[in-house]
Amino acid sequence: MSVQSSAYQRCINPQCAATFGCDEVLFECPACGDLLDICYNWDTVPLPERLMDFSTRWATRNDRLDFSGVWRFRELLDFCPDTAKVSIGEGQTVLQQNCGLAAELGMHPTRLFLQYEGLNPSGSFKDNGMTAAFSHATMVGATASACASTGNTSASMALYAHSCGLKATVFIGQGKIAFGKLSQSMDYGAQTIQIDGDFDDCMRQVQDVCRQMKIYLVNSLNPFRLEGQKTIMLRIIEQLGWDVPDWIVVPGGNLGNSSAFGKAFMELKALGLIDRVPRLAVINASGANTLTEIYNDKKLRWNGGNVDEAAIAAYYKGLDASGYRPHTIASAIEISRPVNLKKCLRALEVCDGVVLAVTDEEILDAKAQIGKYGLGCEPASAATIAGLKYLLADGTVGKDDRVACVLTGHVLKDPNATVEYHSRMGREYSNPPLQAANDLDKIIALIK
Ligand SMILES: *Cc1c(COP(=O)(O)O)cnc(C)c1O
Ligand SMILES: [Zn+2]
Repeated sequence: MSVQSSAYQRCINPQCAATFGCDEVLFECPACGDLLDICYNWDTVPLPERLMDFSTRWATRNDRLDFSGVWRFRELLDFCPDTAKVSIGEGQTVLQQNCGLAAELGMHPTRLFLQYEGLNPSGSFKDNGMTAAFSHATMVGATASACASTGNTSASMALYAHSCGLKATVFIGQGKIAFGKLSQSMDYGAQTIQIDGDFDDCMRQVQDVCRQMKIYLVNSLNPFRLEGQKTIMLRIIEQLGWDVPDWIVVPGGNLGNSSAFGKAFMELKALGLIDRVPRLAVINASGANTLTEIYNDKKLRWNGGNVDEAAIAAYYKGLDASGYRPHTIASAIEISRPVNLKKCLRALEVCDGVVLAVTDEEILDAKAQIGKYGLGCEPASAATIAGLKYLLADGTVGKDDRVACVLTGHVLKDPNATVEYHSRMGREYSNPPLQAANDLDKIIALIK
């Protein structure tokens, strides 16, 4: 098996810092149980001199790796040979400057950008990570994959597993999955197991199942997945003419994306490929706001890797004692025990980040506004604009700041949420169908 020699896995806990080869399938540090990072001996990687040099690959898009919006940047995630790389054309996404929405939010109209990750093959940003995870799975010869999912991970896993011939098993909670997403994993042929519990229960079970049955786990505690998700940031700065925005705004669920974004900027800065790092805003739903409470109320910080584990354990003990269950319409971020919490704290430090939580009603209003200005998204994605409103209101984000919001999933993922919002009158942006008699004049009279 040919394994890229430059990359290795390393425990994020500086007290441990144990390292492992990329040929090992590990989802936590065997020595201390902490999360793992993929690290590179950059001296051995043929990096371009300037990020701009990656753009030359647009000219060779008939090469499948140059076409991929993830593997186009392959030198920055150089952990597997090209022959193992799995791609189904992920990452053909756009950064849309949205002047109308910017103006409505009271921003300078040229300063708001929406990164629409709903354009990925399975309709969410998860494909950026899955292409990387399945490339690693192919490299190590895995034959079966599994994940716990609030929906999009399973849709993406099912698609990628199919494309490289692995079996796929999805664990979902009771009634906690949007139909657009469940329909995908069934259609793409994954075995779906619905557990009598919520996402956090599924997450615990799937880890034990994978350990016992030696199944390849593709949840975002898989460090290879996060390597793929770094490229969302590369595409944003590429579309800004290789300039870094002032803010990245992203919804926070299991905190894989925010963690990957922080790692991307940490590496690009260290490599001298960017001269500054944007600030990061991670937006929770108020019904699933572990990060907000940990970061804002308990004031936990990365602290050079010395995170106050006891405070986190005490927080979770409190959730258990009160029988707390997360609840939000934004099912993709309905998670109260985010597996990447510590990595996210690191990202918040690297990017001088802020965290806040928004209500379901605020999410749905923001979703309707995004839709009205020409890009649909699912509820979780709209948490970005809902959060941005607060950040603009209190001056954290300036009206002239350049802001890139990551719209994580496609509008058709959760049509029920959209229809329900617009069908009920009295909501701020509702746009219900008008009832008309089957009569030409009456129909014409209704048309504005
Ligand atoms: C998975 C998902 C999220 C949450 O991302 P994390 O990396 O788990 O924080 C947000 N939005 C959508 C649409 C998702 O599918
Ligand atoms: Zn360790």
